[in-house]
Amino acid sequence: MRYLHIVSLCIYSPIFLNMKRLVCLLILASFSNFLFSQTDDSKVRVIMFGAHPDDCDQGGGGTAALFASMGYAVKFVAVTNGDAGHQTDGGPTLAKRRFAEAQEAGKRFGVTYDVLDNHDGLLMPSLDVRLQVIKKIREWYADIVIAPRPNDYHPDHRYTGVLVQDAAYMVAVPNIEKGTPALKKNPVFMYFQDYFQRPNPFRPDIAIDISKTFDQKINALDAHVSQFYEWLPWIGHYSEEVPAGHAERIKWMSKREDIPITPEVRKALQKWYGQDAGNSVQHAEAFEICEYGAQPNAEQLRRLFPMLPKN
Ligand SMILES: [Zn+2]
Repeated sequence: MRYLHIVSLCIYSPIFLNMKRLVCLLILASFSNFLFSQTDDSKVRVIMFGAHPDDCDQGGGGTAALFASMGYAVKFVAVTNGDAGHQTDGGPTLAKRRFAEAQEAGKRFGVTYDVLDNHDGLLMPSLDVRLQVIKKIREWYADIVIAPRPNDYHPDHRYTGVLVQDAAYMVAVPNIEKGTPALKKNPVFMYFQDYFQRPNPFRPDIAIDISKTFDQKINALDAHVSQFYEWLPWIGHYSEEVPAGHAERIKWMSKREDIPITPEVRKALQKWYGQDAGNSVQHAEAFEICEYGAQPNAEQLRRLFPMLPKN
């Protein structure tokens, strides 16, 4: 409001008439720094939502670690407590184990990690959970919100996508979830990369070079022992591949997570980093802009993702 007030003064006061254009331009230029920042220091705040306590880590962990290393605040939220994802454990015992793993992973990424107490495998896009999501986004004063697309194979992932889409716009409506003040600006909502083709393939609007934080990402994924060394290999029928020793496990995971960069993501890397630098990126994470939140232009995206090279 402060800035809008100054801008209107600038436009209407006769004192400024002669220099109106110049002053307005200067003020608008500084105002634009705050376009997507909910807080006064203009440092963007990031929140990522996953269905389970390891989803954000995989989809956005490298980017989160880059933000964190630059002093930006990042929060991961698991919308379910993960109490179903195991072949022998389950219920509160598993939820407790997964919570501890998430906290350890959060430490290794340099982010805070919240786990909502909704059951794994049973998530519904209900009003109750929508309000939980709205509350988390508001409490974090989020400028960037990242979630799965709502066309994923797993119903919990799908409904996490729906729930976050349903929160877009509503986070700025004061009469909804009155206990937590509404955000003054609608954040930018984005999707994690996926490989699903229907109804439309993922579109990499932005791609981040995570080569520098790839090892850190692997080290953080390693904290989710129940998932990456137990449950996922069991359900995927590759348990016999999992090494026993820690160093061997890290090496094994690095190889598994060394996912080839798709031609579309490579193009996005060339766009954001330049042809040569974009071609030499080893590891990347990409995001698509959701139509329901703020719609940043290229210059604003560079401000939102300060690890990108300046133009
Ligand atoms: Zn998941």
